[in-house]
Amino acid sequence: MAEILEEVTKTQHQVRLDRLAQVAVNVGLGLAAGQELVITASLDSVELVRAITREAYKAGATLVTTLFSDDEATLLRYQYAPDASFDRAAGWLQDGLANAYRAGSARLAVAGGDPSLLAQQDAKKVARANVAFSVASRPALELITTHVINWTIVASATPAWAHAMFPNDAPDEAMEKLWNAIFAASRVLDDGAVENWRAHDAQLQARAAYLNGKRYSALHYTGPGTDLTIGLADDHLWLGGGTVAGNGLHCIPNMPTEEVFTTPHCQRASGYVAASKPLSYQGTLISDIRVKFENGRIVEAKSGTGQQVLRSLIGTDEGAARLGEVALVPHSSPISKSGLLFFNTLFDENAASHIALGQAYSSCLRDGHHMSKAELAAHGANESLIHVDWMIGSAEMNVNGVSVDGSEELIMKLGEWV
Ligand code: ZN
Ligand code: ZN
Repeated sequence: MAEILEEVTKTQHQVRLDRLAQVAVNVGLGLAAGQELVITASLDSVELVRAITREAYKAGATLVTTLFSDDEATLLRYQYAPDASFDRAAGWLQDGLANAYRAGSARLAVAGGDPSLLAQQDAKKVARANVAFSVASRPALELITTHVINWTIVASATPAWAHAMFPNDAPDEAMEKLWNAIFAASRVLDDGAVENWRAHDAQLQARAAYLNGKRYSALHYTGPGTDLTIGLADDHLWLGGGTVAGNGLHCIPNMPTEEVFTTPHCQRASGYVAASKPLSYQGTLISDIRVKFENGRIVEAKSGTGQQVLRSLIGTDEGAARLGEVALVPHSSPISKSGLLFFNTLFDENAASHIALGQAYSSCLRDGHHMSKAELAAHGANESLIHVDWMIGSAEMNVNGVSVDGSEELIMKLGEWV
């Protein structure tokens, strides 16, 4: 009875928040009874984290552990820490996370930080801290990128993110607008969200299966500022929606997700491409990216703002100047229709077709899970400490599938599936 009364008095916000938590745990994560769960989140996301924690225990989680981060504390490091700080990362903590995953824990990340948190900080220090973190987190990250475990990412509104998106609104109004945008993009506005997500997932998987049947050897993109041919990796596999992790559990790694994606051949991109949206990378906004590729490698990179950050990003390691992902998203996706720029890759990458610099997903290769590093490289899969998506799709972009014999057929016309 108490439970029924509680239901009645919930606000619409609480109903949708709980629905997002239910979808995240039961569809996104596919959490199994008896699993542990590790959550990472910002302090500002505690409301959603508590809702997720409740749903996880209801689904049979044996232990939920959340690691909270704090934007203010991050800034204090840049203000007061000695120079040596920026080559350090909490390796012991990352090793602990890797141990948790190896022992069967699931992993949920709550996105939603301040997109320009580090914009005013020394770009070199930001880059060094990123490299140190990438190195330390590599063993844990590998268990995620190779889908050994079930994992997902969902977003929470936070005051700083809301202010970045809606700078002219009062803080409360901006938060409400951002929450509504997240609920809409995450497909939890209405009842039946769990069933609707399963149908959406099935549709993305069908699209991927269609492309897998085509066995294209390359994609050819044309549009304003863009004439780019990207070779696809040998034995590449298109994926979309959910995936069955190595532990046998079905998870949908990103919520929202609107993309079908695969692994490009890291030595076969050539031509030039202009980004269709700015890239928010670790607190810096990089606008008007224009890049030229030769033999898979970036040979020229320009941007409006954030040029220094773009250059150090590309210079992270050899693989950072090559492609690790190609993804197709129709221009009419719900996020694109919202017309909002979220300054957050989880959302913005699902508004437009995109490519990613850096690490490839071995799951996008036939039998990729069982390949050694040398075998992955022989198939053209890129290796890097980074994986950064940026948007190239628009209502003016055409994409052709190129067959092994060189013939081309249109697969996306003016941003939409043909
Ligand atoms: Zn993607
Ligand atoms: Zn990506």
